[in-house]
Amino acid sequence: MNFYSLNKKAPNVSFADAVVKGIAPDRGLYFPESITPLSASFFKEIENLSNEEIALTAIRQFVNDAIPEEKLKIILAEVLDFNFPVVELEENIATLELFHGPTMAFKDVGARFMARCLGHFSEGNDNEVTVLVATSGDTGGAVANGFLGVKGVNVVILYPSGKVSDIQEKQLTTLGQNITALEVDGTFDDCQRMVKTAFLDQDLLDAMQLTSANSINVARWLPQLFYFLFAYKQAKSKGKEIVFSIPSGNFGNVCAGMMAQQLGMPVKHFVASTNVNDIVPNYMQTGTYNPKPSIATISNAMDVGDPSNFIRIRHIYKDNFELLTENLSSYSFTDEETKEAMLSIHKNCSYVADPHGAVGYLGLKKYQEENPNTYGIFLETAHPVKFLDVVVDTLDTTLEIPAQIKKVMDKEKKSLKISSYDELKGYLLKE
Ligand SMILES: *Cc1c(COP(=O)(O)O)cnc(C)c1O
Repeated sequence: MNFYSLNKKAPNVSFADAVVKGIAPDRGLYFPESITPLSASFFKEIENLSNEEIALTAIRQFVNDAIPEEKLKIILAEVLDFNFPVVELEENIATLELFHGPTMAFKDVGARFMARCLGHFSEGNDNEVTVLVATSGDTGGAVANGFLGVKGVNVVILYPSGKVSDIQEKQLTTLGQNITALEVDGTFDDCQRMVKTAFLDQDLLDAMQLTSANSINVARWLPQLFYFLFAYKQAKSKGKEIVFSIPSGNFGNVCAGMMAQQLGMPVKHFVASTNVNDIVPNYMQTGTYNPKPSIATISNAMDVGDPSNFIRIRHIYKDNFELLTENLSSYSFTDEETKEAMLSIHKNCSYVADPHGAVGYLGLKKYQEENPNTYGIFLETAHPVKFLDVVVDTLDTTLEIPAQIKKVMDKEKKSLKISSYDELKGYLLKE
């Protein structure tokens, strides 16, 4: 099975090429040529399968013969070596905790999977691959951690100066080795634009093999569909129709959930919950897609003004607006509403939600006002400790710092400041 470009002006490529290229030469995102639903018995017996077995069955057709099955099993075992619990908070409301990995945000799975795939494809290859990635907060840390020490791969992370949390910054600037952090005087959108420009820059393309580790890369994006299967496995016995609310920024995670649905997983509806960066909620209201400069919020990993995966979502539902609205609702919430939700979750459920999870909770509540008899799962996409200041101020509580966070907190930040695309290009060509 191959991947085609959503812009339809580039050749179809194998999984390996899609991963190494990141984005197609016509700037389109890659999408699988076909999606074969998994068997009914897979879903019937899912609670008897291990997470690794579920993941292997789900990803096999996309990876195809690019990685031998035995190697793929080893990769999945390494990538999925932590838990993904569904924790019930209220009647018909649960959270899927995706923050038990090494950098405590959901991006660990995609970043680790991609790193190992790329490591496999670079074996016996003399040409180094340069991974160029823009981060709104958590991608940087997950990618730095996932790719640290991978032979044949250099990683360059662009992050917006002063717009990521202290812990997020430490996670992406302190590792060294094959990881470099570029601190950009600008917003996440500026970082993302520089990365996209680099992929089109013939001077760079002639000089190096560049790829992206954002969720535009199929090896970052597709493994996220595991989460929804793991949640389904745990919530199925409730016997109710399941609704997922996904705190969304670049819309890779919700789009991965839709791939699980394409594989045959029963799901009633998706809710894409956003902060005031409300491009998709507006689209769902008006049918007009209007990107805007991103606005800084307390759920900073979702401060995205032109979500790159939304094009894949439209494609999944055949660019049919009605079909899309049957499967997706999208709501936007302010920082004030988010803090109130954090407070009420803490007070009523004795649970500490991070600002992103709280946005997911709000979206779910809103959807359930009109669809009460559903089982709602909102994704807790990061551990609250990653947003220590906001959480501590809002809840007037203290948080214990987990070991994997303590480890980076007293390390020294190392970054290179840049303020223009030319500086990025200069840096890459000098390497
Ligand atoms: C990246 C991120 C999101 C947004 O995920 P997308 O796939 O870009 O929509 C939400 N919450 C947290 C904590 C994140 O790190």
